[in-house]
Amino acid sequence: MARFRRKLVWERAQYRCEYCHLPQIWSFLPHEIDHIRARKHHGPTTLHNTCLACACCNGAKGTNVAGYDPESGDLAPLFNPRVDLWSEHFVWEGPLLLGLTPQGRVTIDVLNINDPNRLEHRRLLLASGDWTTS
Ligand SMILES: [Zn+2]
Repeated sequence: MARFRRKLVWERAQYRCEYCHLPQIWSFLPHEIDHIRARKHHGPTTLHNTCLACACCNGAKGTNVAGYDPESGDLAPLFNPRVDLWSEHFVWEGPLLLGLTPQGRVTIDVLNINDPNRLEHRRLLLASGDWTTS
């Protein structure tokens, strides 16, 4: 088995959270390597089962793999950066991240991506021109 290399996870993600897209340079805390399927659920430490996540997303995600869609109440899996295309599930409306699919909405909800403090942080970054959502 190939040796797991953390640096490759960072480079593949271009140093930004693969869920909320916050770049490391604009985060107060260091980004972390997330096990997409948690080790608790027998998720391996491989490039295919890991992604880069900001401390806020990773902390809120914990060992979750799914959630209940705030719109329908139906159970849906979380967004998986290794198999899902981000732009099919999410769209920016200013600093607000909107879910286009049950999977997107569940991920925003479970990971608290639109928490008021995180929204304000993104609003300030957008206003300063330091960050774009494109
Ligand atoms: Zn994030």
